[in-house]
Amino acid sequence: MTKQIGIAGAGFAGAVLARELAITGKYSIEVFDERPHVAGNCHTSRDPSSGIMLHHYGPHIFNTSRQDVWEYVNQYATFGAYTNRVKAITARGVFSMPMNLLTINQFFGKVMNPAQAQEFLAKVGDSSIKEPHNFEEQALRFLGRELYENFFYGYTKKQWGVEPRELPASILQRLPVRFNYDDNYYQQRYQGIPIEGYTAIVEKILDHPAIKVHVGQRLEAADRSQFDHLFWSGPLDSYFEHELGRLQYRSLVFERFDATGDYQGNAVINYCQESVPWTRIAEHKHFTPWELHEKTVCYREYSKLSEDKDIPYYPLRLERDKSMLREYMHFAEKTSHVTFIGRLGTYRYLDMHVVIGESLDLARSCLAADIADWPKFSGKPLN
Ligand code: UDP
Repeated sequence: MTKQIGIAGAGFAGAVLARELAITGKYSIEVFDERPHVAGNCHTSRDPSSGIMLHHYGPHIFNTSRQDVWEYVNQYATFGAYTNRVKAITARGVFSMPMNLLTINQFFGKVMNPAQAQEFLAKVGDSSIKEPHNFEEQALRFLGRELYENFFYGYTKKQWGVEPRELPASILQRLPVRFNYDDNYYQQRYQGIPIEGYTAIVEKILDHPAIKVHVGQRLEAADRSQFDHLFWSGPLDSYFEHELGRLQYRSLVFERFDATGDYQGNAVINYCQESVPWTRIAEHKHFTPWELHEKTVCYREYSKLSEDKDIPYYPLRLERDKSMLREYMHFAEKTSHVTFIGRLGTYRYLDMHVVIGESLDLARSCLAADIADWPKFSGKPLN
């Protein structure tokens, strides 16, 4: 007899898992999403007025070093070559981001080679900080006060809504500092953007006779008993009806404006000053440099604390959240036949490729075990 599987959320986490289970022929799967589309926050569609592929929940640039993940997504889409090269506007002008030799030389008005720049940053960095305990200390230790204040302080305060000293050093460690002229934002082996967008990929992944998709329909924790097992990619605390309180997230607000021609000459420009209310502007036609469009569509991006009806994006993960997370994890351990998956289900700051990789790994673990022993989480929530 086929087992009945319910999946809450039709983003990459749920869709990849659904497919991997479906192809075994042992499961019948129903995927629910409260929004009217699949692909979660990766959702893309062509703008009817300009024909430009829009990333409705902010820019998504696929990058991974995992060959199996790259091969997996390439089964479902043709990727256009794309390298993310970000510019940052500061009080002292526009610079290349992530920080590289061009940024450092231009910012300090110098002509240093890699070794000299490395020596220079070691000198301007605060060596009295032996072990950086937070974002600010990490920046002061390795970049020094001037770079920190011009590039990171204002942007980070806007993005996270707290003083950078309240944030973990790991957030800054996402960004490299390069002592060469490489201005590629990412450090992964593969990078690109699907020519027909992300929603087309997720639709294809879900297109299998053993998978039934319900969009615009929310799966509730109370529906658990209708299935032999449930995978929950909604917020972990929402499964438990926020019984212990709310895990905090940042949400985003996008303000669209249209123009003709080229508005800013690049896909993403960060605004690092605290006095500018938005964090960045994305001009979406630059994500498909192989297409020609007369018109242009841009979004100013603002960050705010996620409240009741907002869409959660970035888990805040302050100390208060982490201790609450620990308690919700105990609840999860005691809940049978439910697995919490993806960014919201495990309350981690995850990129698309990590989510896909974890769902592939999770499916493998599930298929090797009895359903009563399926894991409680994809990945480790407290990592
Ligand atoms: N950041 C910053 N200035 C920038 C770009 C990034 O201060 O111009 C900080 C910010 O705190 C951000 C972190 O570096 O959250 C990591 O950057 P990343 O680009 O990985 O953030 P994402 O856009 O993925 O949230």
